Amino acid sequence: MLRGALRFGLGPGLLGRGLGTHRGGSTLGEAEGSGGCRGSGVSPVSSHVTFRTRGPGPRWEDSGSLGAGDWDGKVSEIKKKIQSILPGGAWSPLCDTSHLPPEHSDVVIVGGGVVGLSVAFWLKRLEKQQGAIRVLVVERDHTYSQASTVLSVGGIRQQFSLPENIQLSLFSVEFLRNINEYLAVVDDPPLDLQFNPSGYLFLASEEGATIMENNVKVQRQEGAKVCLMSPEQLQKKFPWINTEGVALASYGLENEGWFDPWCLLQGLRRKVQSMGVLFCHGEVTRFVSSSNHMETASGEKVTLKRIHEVHVKVDHSQEYQPVECAIVVNAAGAWSGRIAELAGIGKGPPGTLQGTKLPVEPRKRYVYLWHCPQGPGLEAPLVADPSGAYFRREGLGDNYLGGCSPSEEEEPDPGNLEVDHDFFQEKVWPHLAWRVPAFETLKVRRAWAGYYDYNTFDQNGVVGPHPLVVNMYFATGFSGHGLQQAPAVGRAVAEVMLEGRFQTINLSPFLFSRFYLGEKAQERCII
Ligand SMILES: Cc1cc2nc3c(=O)[nH]c(=O)nc-3n(C[C@H](O)[C@H](O)[C@H](O)COP(=O)(O)OP(=O)(O)OC[C@H]3O[C@@H](n4cnc5c(N)ncnc54)[C@H](O)[C@@H]3O)c2cc1C
Repeated sequence: MLRGALRFGLGPGLLGRGLGTHRGGSTLGEAEGSGGCRGSGVSPVSSHVTFRTRGPGPRWEDSGSLGAGDWDGKVSEIKKKIQSILPGGAWSPLCDTSHLPPEHSDVVIVGGGVVGLSVAFWLKRLEKQQGAIRVLVVERDHTYSQASTVLSVGGIRQQFSLPENIQLSLFSVEFLRNINEYLAVVDDPPLDLQFNPSGYLFLASEEGATIMENNVKVQRQEGAKVCLMSPEQLQKKFPWINTEGVALASYGLENEGWFDPWCLLQGLRRKVQSMGVLFCHGEVTRFVSSSNHMETASGEKVTLKRIHEVHVKVDHSQEYQPVECAIVVNAAGAWSGRIAELAGIGKGPPGTLQGTKLPVEPRKRYVYLWHCPQGPGLEAPLVADPSGAYFRREGLGDNYLGGCSPSEEEEPDPGNLEVDHDFFQEKVWPHLAWRVPAFETLKVRRAWAGYYDYNTFDQNGVVGPHPLVVNMYFATGFSGHGLQQAPAVGRAVAEVMLEGRFQTINLSPFLFSRFYLGEKAQERCII
């Protein structure tokens, strides 16, 4: 019964939420709407959300009619006066609370990377009435030093095996092409994404050729422009490639390339701030929720949970600030498994929905940058070798970047972001030099490591609500393709939150329930 209900998904024309038989999802001690969470209006029947149109503002806005600048001026004036009266001039009697998050927010987004910001953007863009939804983004590291977004290699491609992934990338490329319409901010200069149009070239061995043919069929059905090439055609077009061991190649003819991830991140940030989204530098450390124990018609026991408060530990402090909220979005990238655990997800008997974890974990990936004046020229695509090694040009100065995902047995310790230089020597360079003999003479100049938000179940995104923690929504687990999917995923998550179902791209195969049901949405084209 429970499995049957979960299979419905959230596609257009389908009921919003699989667990539609349960009323309430409310608290044990509090009636919904009468306590706990001011402004929350999440209906567990449809997962449709109605937000309050007005509510108490964040602390730093509760200051009468003064503008932010006036207020700061007044505070420092008063501070100075008090300081001059009191002994001990260095002591500050007034506590500045402007770094704290607000006490209430309709939506709290955990993680201010490109995915979290995209969700914030689409929530504001799709809200029915301007200012109706109060959105708070909590980001613990304002330098983004470990965020996958800024450590990625910035690629976008249409060559995936799943229709949903192709559709996501097709929309994202349209978004990137029109970025200055989507993300324009009055009086701010236009964004320069530094988009470098260039096809991806996937190479397949005899073993992988049939899969490649099938993938290309799907890609074309979805509207992507991709061609198949024989080894002879390949040799003719890219004479610097050694085609030995290559049975077939697929080459993207448009809508593929790479761009500057930092620029997209900053553009989204600038835009959502202009739309009224609030930011807080702090770490989400705890959720306060209530439970409702229920039984399905077939006698299965389930516990529905609702988060009422998010605890945010503010930067450089042991204090935390509780934020009351209606919805939490888990967009914490490689750390989203931890955020799910904090909400109690996966803490139940094995084999049950309650005991099903979010299978997303950080996986360390190295990127090496090398110089090679004899290397392929400007027409070089991003090449993905059957061995897993990949490379592309970087800029105009005979530089290239690339790497290779390690095998399961070789997965490095994700405890830090140190680079293993031997990995390049032993596992990457031999494949590169075999495929492109000119790379025999390359010289590595630089390297870095970043985390994939790796979904160990099927290497695909997790999008939409949790079936039991009724007001936690996921936007995570993209396993190496989250940057390019962010614009479309943000829209999908906002649609489900606002309308109760996916409206433009049906991402039901990416719902959390697939982990419990054992239904993989396996993506075969992973780099
Ligand atoms: C080497 C490498 C190459 C890649 N190449 C590509 C590519 O070519 N194309 C592509 O599409 N994708 C690529 N990716 C994947 C892509 O970068 C990610 O899928 C995407 O950036 C995920 O975005 P995000 O916003 O979910 O995560 P992030 O950018 O990691 O943002 C998550 C944020 O959550 C914050 N956070 C975590 N926990 C908490 C907490 N408790 N409280 C507050 N904040 C918290 C973190 O500080 C972080 O800033 C690559 C990734 C790597 C590592």
